[in-house]
Amino acid sequence: MQSCVTHLSELELNDLILKAKDWNIIHGCIMRPRENFSLDQAQICPFLLLPSSYPKGEFQKAKELQSMLNELMHKVAHDHEFLSSTLKNTIEVDDFTRKLFEIYQTVYLEGFAQTLSLGLIRSDYMLHGSEGGEIKQVEINMISTSFAGLAGINSNYQKFILEELGFKNKLSNIPQNDPANGFGNALGRAWSTYKEKFAVSTVVHKIIILFIVEDVVYNLFDQRAIEFSINEKSPEIKVIRRTLSELATKARLGSKKELLVEDFEVAVAYYRTGYQLEAYPSDKEWDVRLLIERSTAIKCPSIHYHLAGTKKVQQQLSVPGVLERFLIDQAVINKIKEIFMGLYSLDLDEDGDKAVAEAISNPQKYVLKPQREGGGYNIYGDEIKSHLESMKGSKERTAFILMERIYPPLQKNYLIRAGNTDVRLQDFVSELGIYGVLMGDETAVYLNGEVGHVLRTKPSAYNEGGIVFGAGAIDNPYLVE
Ligand code: ADP
Ligand code: MG
Repeated sequence: MQSCVTHLSELELNDLILKAKDWNIIHGCIMRPRENFSLDQAQICPFLLLPSSYPKGEFQKAKELQSMLNELMHKVAHDHEFLSSTLKNTIEVDDFTRKLFEIYQTVYLEGFAQTLSLGLIRSDYMLHGSEGGEIKQVEINMISTSFAGLAGINSNYQKFILEELGFKNKLSNIPQNDPANGFGNALGRAWSTYKEKFAVSTVVHKIIILFIVEDVVYNLFDQRAIEFSINEKSPEIKVIRRTLSELATKARLGSKKELLVEDFEVAVAYYRTGYQLEAYPSDKEWDVRLLIERSTAIKCPSIHYHLAGTKKVQQQLSVPGVLERFLIDQAVINKIKEIFMGLYSLDLDEDGDKAVAEAISNPQKYVLKPQREGGGYNIYGDEIKSHLESMKGSKERTAFILMERIYPPLQKNYLIRAGNTDVRLQDFVSELGIYGVLMGDETAVYLNGEVGHVLRTKPSAYNEGGIVFGAGAIDNPYLVE
């Protein structure tokens, strides 16, 4: 795809890079340093100097789909039979999913103390195919979706840089974007609902939103942007941040099953951790996850929302006839089907054997995915072959799904990263994320919307491009016809 600005002289580039870095520091598109981590310092979050071009029609399609996908995930999460049968084989071999499922099963059988769930969701896409390509879903994230806090700042940066280059006439190609506000509003709405309907305490300042966080947080300002957006609109809402290990000693249930932490009552428990096995170093972190699920706090996500976002569920949703179980409108079903790549189960049956044989013969056409979140776990290329061969006929393979590989179009750009002085014109590929908010219970959905977007762009040579730990960078679309 053509990039939005063509040629920059070396002098122009050097001036621009310095200005761009300082703009991002001043406006807070920053993170904690990975080397020499310090609570007193921040550095720029990796970003693309110029916005990446993106086909307008596909962008709009992704936006329009979000509320339908939200509803789909909501229904999936409330279908006990579907979750149980879909994850049945997976939980026999995948410890992490099994632990989550055990918590789910426990609270399901007890009856949910809080039937409302809050979702701060992100559906991810890459473009695939000829003529700019069509959006294909990479995955949908139901827990700890990141960059909603920084994405809006990056959109403003892009407007700044285009103006700086004298392209005021192009600003309208940068779409309006404020997902921090969207997430903040949804958290605020959940807090108000809890306060009105469930709170035991009558002291407003004691009823809080709890951010459940990792011990060491690099992407801190992404979280703070959401927190401060809540405070700006609703100063009465107090937010506290605690780790799972801290909660293991500090969290308890009150007489009405309200979640108490120190002398606060938790209205909303918002997870920015908990999606990886490493987040639960001992039984006490698992125990506290269960305790939180048993409480009347509104969870973001609840354990069933979390399970609905697993890769195994994503694969099962692509099986012919399965979407029809959840959605009635055939036009909506067709739209959703169009964004799916081929997804295949590796169960120990004839279809699983066929998928394995096909992937071994054509590994470049596929990605092998375990039930993991957070980047860096997928298997590509020839490693697919050796991996599948090593677990041939073994149950272990049912922990994975096989997905057709997406080949997105390349684009030239410059990546700016803290400490890197070698800024070069390179080829990049982008992944579009659309943010959704959702709140509801088994009987109804009370909040369902699309609240913004982000691009995560990586050098094309990398299979994956996490922004915090990998080679990727924050970006936003520059819409082209
Ligand atoms: P995670 O939960 O680890 O983020 P993803 O499914 O999003 O798992 O995969 C991580 C990354 O791997 C994606 O951001 C994308 O860069 C790459 N990836 C995933 N699926 C595909 C695919 N089908 N084709 C090409 N790249 C993919
Ligand atoms: Mg992902």
